[in-house]
Amino acid sequence: MAAPQEKRSSEERKHRSVPNGAQTSQGQWGRAWEVDWFSLASIIFLLMFAPLIVYYFIMSCDQYQCSLVSPLVDLLLENTRLSDIWDKTPPLTYKAAAIYILWVTFQVILYAFVPDFCHKFLPGYVGGVQEGAVTPAGVVNKYEINGLQAWIITHVLWFANAYYFHWFSPTIIFDNWIPLLWCANILGYVVSTFAMIKGYFFPTNAKDCKFTGNFFYDYMMGIEFNPRIGKWFDFKLFFNGRPGIVAWTLINLSYAAKQQELYGQVTNSMILVNVLQGIYVLDFFWNEAWYLKTIDICHDHFGWYLGWGDCVWLPYLYTLQGLYLVYHPVQLGTANAVGILILGLVGYYIFRATNHQKDLFRRTNGNCKIWGKKPGYIECSYVSVDGTKYYSKLMTSGFWGWARHFNYTGDLMGSLAYCLACGFAHLLPYFYIVYMGILLTHRCLRDEHRCFSKYGKDWKRYTAQVPYRLLPGVF
Ligand code: NDP
Repeated sequence: MAAPQEKRSSEERKHRSVPNGAQTSQGQWGRAWEVDWFSLASIIFLLMFAPLIVYYFIMSCDQYQCSLVSPLVDLLLENTRLSDIWDKTPPLTYKAAAIYILWVTFQVILYAFVPDFCHKFLPGYVGGVQEGAVTPAGVVNKYEINGLQAWIITHVLWFANAYYFHWFSPTIIFDNWIPLLWCANILGYVVSTFAMIKGYFFPTNAKDCKFTGNFFYDYMMGIEFNPRIGKWFDFKLFFNGRPGIVAWTLINLSYAAKQQELYGQVTNSMILVNVLQGIYVLDFFWNEAWYLKTIDICHDHFGWYLGWGDCVWLPYLYTLQGLYLVYHPVQLGTANAVGILILGLVGYYIFRATNHQKDLFRRTNGNCKIWGKKPGYIECSYVSVDGTKYYSKLMTSGFWGWARHFNYTGDLMGSLAYCLACGFAHLLPYFYIVYMGILLTHRCLRDEHRCFSKYGKDWKRYTAQVPYRLLPGVF
């Protein structure tokens, strides 16, 4: 975690209002103050089409066996009409609404009312009350880190139900998948709209709000940096971490149960997807305290992008491989299965080791060993909104010396492994790697723009020393 280092930085304050190079100015880090036309056009496009994209993917599995092309061909050849497709789409049901309300309420209770116990008996796990990074207004928020506990309790109950209580079928998520989509959309829009209104009328911290004056941009990218209800209910941590990510592994388990019900067996590809994505999800919760220092929490404001994205986009599109495998139960040959497992595990190792190296480096303020040696770094400084100067360091050793975002490279390798597990018969499972490629490349550029605004000439010194972003020698 960077918090202790950031705090130390604040103790090291030496000069007030001393800019670091010509490009650095107060409050330039965090999301934009002004909107350019390209950003505005992209945002309006996403607001209009992202819900349709999710619907199209899920509908094409429900009505066209996961073929992305068939619905279009049918429409073009006038074999079907949009209204026919819509009529065949399952509507919102009371049952789905009840499941969804119970689910979200349960996660709210686990998040807000059950303090973390795991850190008391799990060696190495950082849970309980933790500090986030310093915000542009100079605030350090406290968070109750109890995601691992929420995940464990939820999954213990899930397995207890599946093997012992039998209150509901383990296929319940798959069986209500489209009605639940409507519920997730309702929550996504309600929470994003509430966050916008809250930003205008009762923000948690007015100094950490940003207004561009453009309704669409503010709605999408958010006004408030860290909206909260009361002292502990943090919108960003809750919606980012639960209910979407806790649900991710349950959704996959529901798909596996459906395969078992339909075909009398669970294929090795389904097991691979469950295991590899399960590792990724568990890693997220094991490292939730570290997550407080990632871009989502440190730099993004809370708007539709996070609110709707966490409620709808993440649980529906990140789980497409499992959904696809219900319709196309792929049984991989041993060599392919082992190859995919190795790719996924190596990707995960790179992702985790790179993130760990930065975390260790920041937590110890550079007083650590990376690959057995004291790490190299570039000293840098930045200025917060109130004009206070802070000091930080950018590491140039380990994976951070290979490329500026090698953690993204590992993430992409893992993502590719999930897709390959589905074989090559359809495009749909490959959406994830295409999407992650775009997301992480865009994130890379966005982060670098922000780091340049934050660190100015120091960032230039860093990029001169580590010239590649994702792949050494290529990009
Ligand atoms: P990083 O963890 O790479 O964090 C970037 C920040 O780290 C920079 O803004 C800067 O922050 C600091 N930094 C940059 N270079 C250095 C350096 N050389 N030494 C020390 N600090 C440095 O990015 P993210 O927060 O985007 O990603 C975290 C993880 O989450 C990644 O592994 C990513 O793959 C994953 N992820 C997954 C997503 C998914 O949907 N599955 C989506 C997004 C991310 P500072 O201002 O503190 O200097």
